[in-house]
Amino acid sequence: MRLFLPSLVKEGLGGGLKDEGGCMISGLEGKVAIVTGGARGIGLAIATLLADRGASVVVSDLNHEMAEQEASKLVSNGRAAIAVAANVASAEDVKGLVATTLSHWGRVDILVNNAGITRDGLLLRMKEEDWDAVMSVNLKGVYRCIKAVIPIMAKQRSGKIVSISSIAGVMGNAGQANYSASKAAVIGLTKTVAREYASRGITVNAVAPGFIDTAMTAPLSLEVREALLKEIPQARLGTPEDVANAVAFLASNQADYITGQVFHVNGGMYM
Ligand code: NAP
Repeated sequence: MRLFLPSLVKEGLGGGLKDEGGCMISGLEGKVAIVTGGARGIGLAIATLLADRGASVVVSDLNHEMAEQEASKLVSNGRAAIAVAANVASAEDVKGLVATTLSHWGRVDILVNNAGITRDGLLLRMKEEDWDAVMSVNLKGVYRCIKAVIPIMAKQRSGKIVSISSIAGVMGNAGQANYSASKAAVIGLTKTVAREYASRGITVNAVAPGFIDTAMTAPLSLEVREALLKEIPQARLGTPEDVANAVAFLASNQADYITGQVFHVNGGMYM
């Protein structure tokens, strides 16, 4: 496994949303959040929203340069952010990610397991390496990150873990046996860890997006898109921000009594 050395971007001042009267709302001030796969797509929207609400955010990604770029943008907008390059498929990288977060900010309040990949193909043509690659990132990566932060959160007696599952993990999706199995397993993992650590003040939830307009869905042909839209009552793909809003809620104290749940963000495609 290649080890990416953590790279730090200068910390900025914590922000926070203000209403028209200038009062702070939806406070995540003082919270430290790790977002994996945070340099683009849904992960970037989550990192941005958490930072806008006052959290100090670790933008973590395989793609070192993009993570640094995005963390720098947040900092120049007055938010608190650092970039840490980490591959969630590497146990060593995940340890480094959490250690760097602790050495920089001294705590971990929120973990968002967002990093995910696809290696699509019909079952009979699916190679074992494609099965293993997807499981290693989408499922074992989530297990690794959760295991790395749980002792810290348990000691703090508080923590919020939100993992990005998928509608494919709930409904299945032809051509995605590996992906849908990994995303269904994330739901099982979420419910189990929620039960194991509820008494320590840690909530563990999953968000299952439908089809969201990102690089992951960019390869869909016009024909497939049109067919998809017929299956979505709201007749549009979701935006990364649609998903980020659900994650930010689950990461906030407003969701203190919600654990072991799956939030569906899909324009009504699955209900
Ligand atoms: P995306 O645009 O492909 O972005 C994924 C990000 O994760 C990229 O920055 C990628 O880095 C990073 N990443 C990939 N493998 C990683 C690894 N091993 N370690 C660390 N980071 C890694 O995907 P997205 O559409 O935003 O999806 C985000 C999450 O939502 C995924 O878990 C996905 O399965 C889930 N989801 C997406 C949709 C959808 O319709 N888009 C629907 C349901 C669920 P690189 O840029 O270096 O590749």
